[in-house]
Amino acid sequence: MNDCIFCNIIKGEIPSAKVYEDDEIFAFLDINPVNPGHTLVIPKEHYDDFSLTPNELLSKMMPVIDKISKAIMNGLGAQGFNLELNNGRVAGQIVPHAHFHIVPRFPDDGLHLWPGKPYAEGEMQKTAEKIKNNLE
Ligand code: 5GP
Ligand code: ZN
Repeated sequence: MNDCIFCNIIKGEIPSAKVYEDDEIFAFLDINPVNPGHTLVIPKEHYDDFSLTPNELLSKMMPVIDKISKAIMNGLGAQGFNLELNNGRVAGQIVPHAHFHIVPRFPDDGLHLWPGKPYAEGEMQKTAEKIKNNLE
């Protein structure tokens, strides 16, 4: 066993409720779900977070996320889902192995996301410039 929980789950050394596996990607149910069917989709190769995961691998994960989210909707009667990614501790990432959350959504499930707060005058354009100037 190494010290990454998710690597140990992939190897089967920690049991999980697996829903999907291919050569490079693994998906299983979150042990502490926001709603039943909350699924984690992870690369089999260990990368600490999304930002460190190669683009080529990320681009393979998106169709898998699409496939699983449709199975969640059809299989569990979810009417929508949130695709969430916590990147870094400040963003709430607890397990340092890159993962996407697929959270099934049901009417009146009580989950409220993304509380918004307005920009101060002129800050929106300045913020957009700072981002645009750092695209690599
Ligand atoms: P994070 O906050 O890092 O984005 O989310 C990590 C998620 O992993 C949490 O939602 C947590 O419930 C889930 N998790 C942590 N340990 C285990 C485990 O041993 N098994 C499973 N199935 N999920 C886990
Ligand atoms: Zn790992």
